[in-house]
Amino acid sequence: MNIPTNSPELRSWIPVPAKSDFPVQNIPFGVGGADGSDSNCLTRIGDSAIDLAILAEQGLIHAPEHLGGKGAFTGELDALLMDGPQVIRDLRQRLSELLRDDATLNGMHRDAIARAIIPVNELDMELPALIGDYTDFYSSRQHAYNVGVMFRDPANALMPNWLHLPVGYHGRSSSIVVSGTPVRRPMGQFKPAPDQAPVFGPSRQLDLELEVGFLTYEGPELGSRISVEEAEDHIFGLVLFNDWSARDIQAWEYVPLGPFLGKNFASSMSPWVVTLDALEPFRVQGPVQEPQPLPYLRSSGARTFDIRLEVGLTPAGGSETIICRSNFKHLYWSMAQQLAHHTVNGCNVRAGDLMASGTISGDAPDSFGSMLELAWKGTRPIKLNDGSERKFLQDGDTVTMRGYCEKDGLRIGFGEVSGTVLPAE
Ligand code: MN
Repeated sequence: MNIPTNSPELRSWIPVPAKSDFPVQNIPFGVGGADGSDSNCLTRIGDSAIDLAILAEQGLIHAPEHLGGKGAFTGELDALLMDGPQVIRDLRQRLSELLRDDATLNGMHRDAIARAIIPVNELDMELPALIGDYTDFYSSRQHAYNVGVMFRDPANALMPNWLHLPVGYHGRSSSIVVSGTPVRRPMGQFKPAPDQAPVFGPSRQLDLELEVGFLTYEGPELGSRISVEEAEDHIFGLVLFNDWSARDIQAWEYVPLGPFLGKNFASSMSPWVVTLDALEPFRVQGPVQEPQPLPYLRSSGARTFDIRLEVGLTPAGGSETIICRSNFKHLYWSMAQQLAHHTVNGCNVRAGDLMASGTISGDAPDSFGSMLELAWKGTRPIKLNDGSERKFLQDGDTVTMRGYCEKDGLRIGFGEVSGTVLPAE
């Protein structure tokens, strides 16, 4: 009876369009509501969102009383993340039983479930959690290498620490926005040329960063650490993440304390959180790590996932050009290693914290995850379908990132994260 939620043979009684990212094996979590109504926790099958607060109201699903009972499904997902992975695991199992095509499990409940369905095109999605803290890593070796070649020395492109620890910095959670939110070109200070004095004005080098982020469960108290072997039990799920960057502001400001105003004006995330359990069939071995990391970063087994990623750029009024195809498995440092490193000094993580991967670039030039790399610092502009070229983003450009896994007829995806560049103000 307890068929795993990710079994490929499962089908839903709710229609799922061909090539949908959201078959019954996915059961992602998001937060939103139909126009004007309060936001609740949701899951999604095909193009149908299902309001979990309504299911709970009808007694079809439950959250532990100490997490709020029925109330745990109103507003953001945070209450459900306070107690580790079992609460979400039990919930996905129950939702799978209610939503799969098996009338003996759910036939008598289908009318009640249908009352909780909201077509996704009628939904306003919000951020899934109250993101308290946001950390951005720098875990793609090819990205770090490319940046090192462009800005420093091709012979020593990787900094001496890079192969020994997952480099990261603390970002800004207040400016994380959900997919669909426009992003205003930032104003700032930068040097138009190396030998010129700094000026103030709209960034001239607005860029995208193709990243994948993960949200955490409530972690152990301050002063504790999360081991690399137990780290995945602290990961709620993954989202697509566009970590917009103003390269000119960043280049001038970053010494000696690192990224600041060139990065913190906006980061966009996809609204549906896809759990590690849903991604399990797509688990793959990460790259060989040489030199071997220190013991606290050493892990065994397959610690990454085969997630195909792409970036589309659509000029105002124009059609989309796919400018990048990459893959999550290109990352050198795994999420488990990132979390183990992040907490090795006793730093605590809380429910709904966001950790982003850093730009995900593969080996091939069309797999680079930023325009800085795709156009190689402006020296080989990106050609769009309409004949125009880009070194960096123009006002009116829409950037859309998509991600999905596919194997043996099973497709699990993230949907998209999209944002349009508004002129500076
Ligand atoms: Mn970033």
